[in-house]
Amino acid sequence: MGNRIIVITQNGGVFGHDINGNTVGPAFAFGGSKVAFNGAFDRFVVTMGNRIIVTTQDGGVWAHEVVGNTVGPAFPMNFVLSHFTFASDISAANRQRTLDRHRFALTRMAACGNLSAQERTKLHQAYDRAIHHTTNTTAGVNASATVGGSRLNVNFGVLFPQGDEEISQTLIHEMMHCAGFTHPTRRDPPAGSSCAAPNPAVFDCPGDNGVYYGTPPLRAEFCIAGDQSDVRSRLRGKAAVESCVIDENGLATVHTEASRQPLGAAS
Ligand SMILES: [Zn+2]
Repeated sequence: MGNRIIVITQNGGVFGHDINGNTVGPAFAFGGSKVAFNGAFDRFVVTMGNRIIVTTQDGGVWAHEVVGNTVGPAFPMNFVLSHFTFASDISAANRQRTLDRHRFALTRMAACGNLSAQERTKLHQAYDRAIHHTTNTTAGVNASATVGGSRLNVNFGVLFPQGDEEISQTLIHEMMHCAGFTHPTRRDPPAGSSCAAPNPAVFDCPGDNGVYYGTPPLRAEFCIAGDQSDVRSRLRGKAAVESCVIDENGLATVHTEASRQPLGAAS
């Protein structure tokens, strides 16, 4: 890895030797996570850039990021999600598309700097749970989930026609709630103001990194767009016509513009 030889022992200990010219330096121990310690279950280990990649017997691919002399926790690079469950009324096609959009979202998260390592770890822990999917039929609602819960209610009729990226954006937002993250209710611009001239002290606008859009669920949404500026601006537009409201029971519901209550009314 770069100018280092990495040695991983049977019990997952990670050691390095720095190489200077033609000289191999003394062994030192890395701090952080153990790597590839699951006996015969861990099949291959390779390095790629600053990552140690472990491939398991069942085809799982896990990566550890190495920063300095510390090995980060394993995070999944492919996502089977066979432990996710669906209510019986959800069609096979909708199940497949939901799983595909979860996988796409997770792939984006792995390469996105909008979330801290700790936030990504909490998200992956939520994805490790058996998240149960049900159908939500509330008009003008994309989806809902309870903060810290393991159930995701999807309005297939409202959300799915909006397109693949929009589905992933909503799913990752709700999964961040399942991971325990929260946010305040969005503050709309007062009369005479708009997001053409943002003022994060008074109201919330996409990209302002303020008290609403700066929270982990909203930052995660912006990972879905990737680096294409046209996609990013489109998704920013989508974020502007949506807001998520968390009720007194912790149920977080992503509303689309059509269903939003007038300013000042209860949501
Ligand atoms: Zn939310």
